[in-house]
Amino acid sequence: MENGNSGDHAVDLFVIGGGINGCGIARDAAGRGLSVTLAEMGDLAQATSSSSTKLFHGGLRYLEYFEFRLVREALTEREVLLRAMPHISWPMRFVLPYHRDMRFEADTPTSRLLGVFMPWMKGRRPAWLIRLGLFLYDHLGGRKILPGTRTVDLTRDPAGSVLKDKFHKAYEYSDCWVEDSRLVVLNARDAEAHGARIMTRSRVVSAVVEDGLWTVQVEDADSGETRAIRAKMLVNAAGPWVGKVIRDTVHLDNGAGVRLVRGSHIVTRRLFDHDKCYFFQGTDGRIIFAIPYETDFTLIGTTDADHDDPDRSPVCTEAEQDYLISFASEYFKTPLSRDDVVWTYSGVRPLYDDGASSATAATRDYVLKLDESTGAPVLNVFGGKITTYRRLAESALEKIGPFFPGTGGRWTGGAALPGGDFPVDGVDRLIAELRAAYPFLDAFWARRLVRAYGTEAAEVLGDAGSAADLGRDFGATLTEREVRWLMDREYAVRAEDVVWRRSKLGLRMSAEQIAALDDWMQDARSNGQAAGE
Ligand SMILES: Cc1cc2nc3c(=O)[nH]c(=O)nc-3n(C[C@H](O)[C@H](O)[C@H](O)COP(=O)(O)OP(=O)(O)OC[C@H]3O[C@@H](n4cnc5c(N)ncnc54)[C@H](O)[C@@H]3O)c2cc1C
Repeated sequence: MENGNSGDHAVDLFVIGGGINGCGIARDAAGRGLSVTLAEMGDLAQATSSSSTKLFHGGLRYLEYFEFRLVREALTEREVLLRAMPHISWPMRFVLPYHRDMRFEADTPTSRLLGVFMPWMKGRRPAWLIRLGLFLYDHLGGRKILPGTRTVDLTRDPAGSVLKDKFHKAYEYSDCWVEDSRLVVLNARDAEAHGARIMTRSRVVSAVVEDGLWTVQVEDADSGETRAIRAKMLVNAAGPWVGKVIRDTVHLDNGAGVRLVRGSHIVTRRLFDHDKCYFFQGTDGRIIFAIPYETDFTLIGTTDADHDDPDRSPVCTEAEQDYLISFASEYFKTPLSRDDVVWTYSGVRPLYDDGASSATAATRDYVLKLDESTGAPVLNVFGGKITTYRRLAESALEKIGPFFPGTGGRWTGGAALPGGDFPVDGVDRLIAELRAAYPFLDAFWARRLVRAYGTEAAEVLGDAGSAADLGRDFGATLTEREVRWLMDREYAVRAEDVVWRRSKLGLRMSAEQIAALDDWMQDARSNGQAAGE
């Protein structure tokens, strides 16, 4: 396990994929003393891990499938994660309006049971059953920080004011928000801080076993040059490409299947003034969320549609947009239209193929498959959720550990991510301290920086005494100094890395501003390279 990240040494672990699972495994493994190299073919979190609904949640609807293990693990994990990253994650309250005509998924074990014992319900759920589900949700995983469920009178509560008058009653429960793409980058940074090597824009094109070691060919996205890296073990965390890597890169024939399920979201201007989310139950049995987003917006999603090819970039189709618009309009007093949509995004869930009949019913649990048939070990990662990434990494290390005697034990449970070393309720204090130290910051700017960088926000701003000291102003409070931080510390290369993944400033910047930022970053890169950086 000596440092294999230099020279011709074989590294212990080579991780394919810089999504949350690859970066989470790399961080955990590096912290246990393994030498780790991770290759991501594009930008970190460029695929599924920046396209989620961004919830640390137990998954209320999975209770309908009796997925108690997954729900319990995810519920317990919410507060562990919240403590480790109180800057990019925070508690949220979810309002679930109740109406007797709501229809629930028809092919769940719960539906089948109700069909036998209460056939007259025809896909509806009695209020007591929803309350029972929420009781389980409150108690399965234990809670110390998050408040429990309560019943809400929508005729009086502010949450009812934007909903149609037919909704009188709701249940309100807790889950958490997380900035998914920043979560990935912070895991990558922490992996690097523990000695891992993180290579972005580096596609793994082949991996073969020679003399009991993997030889991995990695192609540089910019130069097209290929280099070989030797490794004792491979982790295939390629997300939607996991099956492709198994078949075409590693050439295994183990029959493991992945089911690609696309999910799309729309973003509208802010539809309501409070900070709670809505959990809407549709007439087709599906659910969607409407979530306060980036201060001035509302996020609505998601859809569930089978997706055939990981190389076909997922987009939110017009049909999906119309579906989400009409779904939400069943609840909101003021119906939505296409004109309200300011942005859409779409991602592909790499689910383990468990033979489920519908995309909605396919398991969201993770599956780790170890394969040694080629003469050297490879661990293939299927499924999972943002919420369970840390536990998935621990389970992966349980399978990896036996190949490396002397590997350290679990450590990530109580360890803060970069910038997250402050109390869960400490954000407002941090914002006040930042504004006192940098009086030129307005409230929006200071909050944005603290939510992104936590205790590192002051390090980003450095010795600036005025906004002018931060260098070029790219718009929407993005300055040269912050962009340099993102390029130097957070692997950002292109403008889209900065405005759609390290931040969501793309919602506030014009196409011209983004193009100007990209030009500036390319110049800074070539100047840096010319200077031998
Ligand atoms: C619409 C939607 C909503 C979701 N909502 C939630 C939610 O609210 N909460 C939650 O907990 N979970 C949610 N999830 C699930 C969660 O987003 C995923 O489980 C998770 O992001 C998967 O991460 P990953 O690392 O496996 O895959 P990815 O993030 O896709 O990472 C895989 C990476 O591998 C790279 N790669 C592939 N092939 C190669 C190669 N040959 N060489 C180098 N790199 C390669 C890709 O570029 C990619 O970046 C949601 C998923 C979707 C689609």
